[in-house]
Amino acid sequence: MQRAEAIDQKIKNKTAGKLAGLVIGLKDVLCHEGHRLQACSRMLEGFVSQFTGTAVQRLLDEDAIVIGRQNCDEFAMGSSNENSAFGAVKHALDEARVPGGSSGGSAVAVMANMCRVSIGSDTGGSVRQPAAFCGVVGLKPTYARISRHGLVAYASSFDCIGIFSKSVRDVACVLEVMAGADEVDSTVSRQPVPAYANVIDTTQSSYRIAYLRDALESDSLQPAVREAVKRQLDVFRAKGWVVEPIALPLNEYVLPTYYILATAEASSNLSRYDGVRYGYRSPAAHDLASLYKKSRAEGFGKEVQRRILLGTYVLSASYYDAYYAQAQKVRRLIRQEIKNVFATYDFLVMPTAPTTAFLRGQHRDNPVEMYLADLFSVQANVAGVPAISIPCGVDESGLPIGLQLVADDFRESELLQFANLALNLQQKTA
Ligand code: GLN
Repeated sequence: MQRAEAIDQKIKNKTAGKLAGLVIGLKDVLCHEGHRLQACSRMLEGFVSQFTGTAVQRLLDEDAIVIGRQNCDEFAMGSSNENSAFGAVKHALDEARVPGGSSGGSAVAVMANMCRVSIGSDTGGSVRQPAAFCGVVGLKPTYARISRHGLVAYASSFDCIGIFSKSVRDVACVLEVMAGADEVDSTVSRQPVPAYANVIDTTQSSYRIAYLRDALESDSLQPAVREAVKRQLDVFRAKGWVVEPIALPLNEYVLPTYYILATAEASSNLSRYDGVRYGYRSPAAHDLASLYKKSRAEGFGKEVQRRILLGTYVLSASYYDAYYAQAQKVRRLIRQEIKNVFATYDFLVMPTAPTTAFLRGQHRDNPVEMYLADLFSVQANVAGVPAISIPCGVDESGLPIGLQLVADDFRESELLQFANLALNLQQKTA
């Protein structure tokens, strides 16, 4: 409230920043100085950030107001927000259902009007999939568009900061503020940042759109999701735009490639949590080795341990070439395949997730089934390209369906324009 009053004063004096008074929430993986940061893990119990990450600092510098921290899956690993030391997040429309993950709290907070914008992270769909389940907009920008300084690392060659809101315009305003070079993160692109919010109403007279034929015909797709995507494609066709089916033969390798590389990187990134430097330390340890073992066994939840074990396995001397090195090569081919699509088409369209929000506990005992929920979302992370999920109607139970639009590297302006246009067209046809 104090900050709001100070910003009110700035507005009166005409000195307010671009995001004056914008209420935002932060996923519990983003550093905000003086505030607790746990990545929803027992491992970081009692940890307080000593600095504010670059992206968050840029929002504060433009007079946004941080309203609070948001629950997520532990270390951003999950697709249902059931893996949190703080307990599961519930869907705002039906408490028996999940909000998606890992940024589930961030999606629900926007859906339930607790904040106007949430900042999450998307390593394999963690912004887009919960956005789809909760009926809001969720953007994962191009890899390297936004600094990750002050973002808890999960899988560094995939991790992206992403944005939730009900409005594409808000997403554009916030992206514009957060994106761009950062002297303390050498992985950020130096490409200039366009004024996304200004160009959002500009549209092309026609578009070339590809959709994944196999995805639309897949048995794992909920019929209502298929119908919704087809309806939207028909709306595009009715505008006279090119709408064509394509095949991506490497698609069946996308999930395994992701789950090999992401777990390998996670096992390396999470080795820093040793019970010595951060957070939780087991009281039962009696020497250095048992301090590591007990702190990590008690501090990390089951899913995080599973990922560390998997990642350590694929990086081990005898399997490195068979899994890790191989997955790196396949990743390059997958990226090439997607890049080829954008030589002909402006956007690739597919469902964000194969189903709408599922029941809590539904996939709890079957991790592979849970990983399948990421079927369509991990593609953009494996390739590094930007993608956005926008609402696209509801299923027979009134649960939101998400439509995913994917574009070529650094085409966020076009992607946001098109997302806005698609939402406007939906309103016209409704
Ligand atoms: N569900 C995916 C995973 O568990 C994506 C997570 C994410 O994007 N942070 O790895």
